[in-house]
Amino acid sequence: MHELDFIDWICSQRECDPAVVPVGPGDDCAMVVAGGERLLVSTDQLLDGVHFHLRNDGAEAFGRKAMARALSDIAAMAAVPLAAVACVSLPKGFSRQDAEAMYRGRRALGDRFNCPMVGGDLATWDGPAAISVTVFGRTDGIEPVLRSGAKVGDAICVTGQLGGAWLSDRHLTFVPRIAEARALASRFDLHAMIDISDGLALDLWRLCRASGIGADVEARQVPVHSQAETGRKDVLPLEAALGDGEDYELLFTLSHDQAGHLLAAQPLEAPVSRIGTIIEARAMSLVDAKGHRKPLQPTGWQHQT
Ligand SMILES: [Mg+2]
Repeated sequence: MHELDFIDWICSQRECDPAVVPVGPGDDCAMVVAGGERLLVSTDQLLDGVHFHLRNDGAEAFGRKAMARALSDIAAMAAVPLAAVACVSLPKGFSRQDAEAMYRGRRALGDRFNCPMVGGDLATWDGPAAISVTVFGRTDGIEPVLRSGAKVGDAICVTGQLGGAWLSDRHLTFVPRIAEARALASRFDLHAMIDISDGLALDLWRLCRASGIGADVEARQVPVHSQAETGRKDVLPLEAALGDGEDYELLFTLSHDQAGHLLAAQPLEAPVSRIGTIIEARAMSLVDAKGHRKPLQPTGWQHQT
């Protein structure tokens, strides 16, 4: 089974009433309306051996990363976290000491972002450790930024630097870009946004598809992390930046003029880079320094079973 195909199928089933669920499956968070308030909700799972190596990285980092990934989806909507619940499956024999370390890792980020864990479920089994975190968010005065709002002519921008996160501890220590997303969305008219979890090329492709447009990416403008440039003979640094994933940076679009103001102001601690332009044709291209274009494949992390 191909993960993306199955998600497409789920999204096509249309079980939601748009009056109650203005944003259903297919964005970083869903939006549900309850008592006149718009609530954002997202869920994310972390599996030992797939997204994480418990034996190497430790239980505290396991709890932290599970929480951080869920909060990154709240950031992608420019929302504020409200509360979280978790389902945790632990292998038989998992120690109390490690379970408390896992709690500490999760709790530290929850405290930092004022997002308490308000419930959950715990089970033990013969399989590997798994954590599923569901996080709720609120809009708090800023209109949520969806994947689907990109317009032809928009500048495509990213925060931070990309690639090599798996080769370092960046995929364990990243701080969800909630403050950055709020700062950007309060000062600039962001048209579309997604967090880069599976790789720039794949997540840009998701944004393009949701918006019904395409993208030209300027190769020399992609901010390649120094950690993408070391240790691998088989992967070029640019390819790593496009396809590694686990960066948890923000990828967003806004008008050309707004992007000019943003790049001049650079209001965040992390640098913002303009990496390309939204185009009408529903295709992605990588443009080199000489203006030559080649198709940009949505490479990146995809689960396949
Ligand atoms: Mg996401």
